[in-house]
Amino acid sequence: MTRLLIVEDEPQLLRALSINLRARRYEVAGAANGASALRMAAAAPPDLVILDLGLPDLDGIEVIAGLRGWTTVPIIVLSAREGQGDKVDALDAGADDYLTKPFGMDELLARVRAALRRSQPGASTPVVTTASFTLDLGAKRATREGTDVRLTPTEWHLVEILARNPSRLVPGSQLLREVWGPGRESDTNYLRVYLAQLRRKLEADPAHPRHLITEPGVGYRFEP
Ligand code: CA
Repeated sequence: MTRLLIVEDEPQLLRALSINLRARRYEVAGAANGASALRMAAAAPPDLVILDLGLPDLDGIEVIAGLRGWTTVPIIVLSAREGQGDKVDALDAGADDYLTKPFGMDELLARVRAALRRSQPGASTPVVTTASFTLDLGAKRATREGTDVRLTPTEWHLVEILARNPSRLVPGSQLLREVWGPGRESDTNYLRVYLAQLRRKLEADPAHPRHLITEPGVGYRFEP
């Protein structure tokens, strides 16, 4: 059984999440503060952690850092906070995904499934297919409606990082670092330009992209 650890200090939300996730046959453990979350995770390592950032004792970022000291378990962060800075801090600290409260249960369940899929070894498929285009990551070949699409090496590098992380919010700083190298993390104009090019080449309606999604101020998400 897949074991989830939910770290949430609001009893009603913890209860609602537990009921919904148990109904989907997940084994659920709940922690109401950061210290007990770290203790419980060490005693019985979970397959995925759902973590509220605003906890009574530790900051959620400290909990992420504590977990990342010894485990690569997927972490989905929940927060009522509005600031984009918190999202970026959480992702930089090693969180895998982020949901802002209030969120829909279906959305959370979809993110949980996607994070678990990604964490399974050997789960990465070299061919990614969407309604609009296909990317063969092994052969480095992109096709749209059966026709080859030529991508530049930079475009390919970008779209490959996104496609290898389906449904995951990839921070803009990470894309800039991986594609252009350290020290370029603030050149977000590059990303805007290259993502616009990729959408023109790959999306059926580039003005209303369905697969290469911008998360304003934070990063990008590939939705298959
Ligand atoms: Ca809270």
